[in-house]
Amino acid sequence: SAASAQGRVAVRFEDSMHERAEHHARTELALRRALTAGELVVHYQPIVDVADGTVLGVEALVRWERDGRLVPPLEFVPVAEASGLIGALGAHVLREACRQSARWRAQGHDLLLSVNVAAGQLVDGGFVDVVERALAESGLPPDRLCLEITESALVAHGAGGQDTLLGVEALGVRLAVDDFGTGYSSLAYLRDLPVTEIKVDRGFVAHLGHDPRDTELVASVVAMGRALGMAVVAEGVETQQQLDALRALGCDMAQGYLLGRPGPAARLEPLLRGTAMLGRSA
Ligand code: C2E
Ligand code: MG
Ligand code: MG
Ligand code: MG
Repeated sequence: SAASAQGRVAVRFEDSMHERAEHHARTELALRRALTAGELVVHYQPIVDVADGTVLGVEALVRWERDGRLVPPLEFVPVAEASGLIGALGAHVLREACRQSARWRAQGHDLLLSVNVAAGQLVDGGFVDVVERALAESGLPPDRLCLEITESALVAHGAGGQDTLLGVEALGVRLAVDDFGTGYSSLAYLRDLPVTEIKVDRGFVAHLGHDPRDTELVASVVAMGRALGMAVVAEGVETQQQLDALRALGCDMAQGYLLGRPGPAARLEPLLRGTAMLGRSA
């Protein structure tokens, strides 16, 4: 009967709710251990100058080395956010990435380091101190660090988040809007927050050179970035055609599999030969 079918659906629904809760609890426990066991590692993806291919920076992307498998962030960052572990996870990534960047810097590579920040880190009152300490410990100059925050996190952060962002700005750190164009938010935050970079979501980059509407949208973001003094970075560049289109549009920087996949620090080093070198007096 319809009623018993509905009952079965309800039972299955409860089962799956229960399974999800169990899965979440297991992941949280394992993640807590992973943090102290050093299983959370940082990979780096190059960010290049669209005009000439110079590597201008890297984005730090966290991975979990779990039982010989490399777990992508989308499988555990949300768990960290929901369980209050995001502060510890974020601080770990920030310290590790600043340390690695300072190492590259000591080798003469003048790179901009981008680190992703979750909404939950902004409302935690200690975040500005965490950033300040990571910079002090590593010796990385503040203007070589860029914090990436998604549009949705910028909108969700509230007043406490805004104070935090002004606090990191006061340190001299840069601020990027990540996944730009996907957040269903107003442009007010570009006016009100100390944004220095706009990262155009790869959804708008995918059809560049094919879809004239995407081309016009990216052209508008480039124009807006220029007018507001913000650098524009295109995400998810996978083809030469996309890169050529970005160059024609005057986009500043690009990131994507075409230019380099994320990898451990050592795997990035051959690419760094093409970076801007720090001027060194003889
Ligand atoms: P995101 O910050 O937008 O990072 C870019 C994502 O796009 C990365 O996925 C990168 O591997 C992927 N990607 C780069 N180039 C291409 C391309 O050409 N094609 C395609 N299809 N993808 C490309 P990943 O590493 O899986 O990270 C996913 C998201 O997880 C990140 O998106 C970021 O929001 C979050 N995330 C990563 N690391 C951290 C972290 O340390 N802290 C926090 N809070 N979030 C992080
Ligand atoms: Mg990012
Ligand atoms: Mg992004
Ligand atoms: Mg993204």
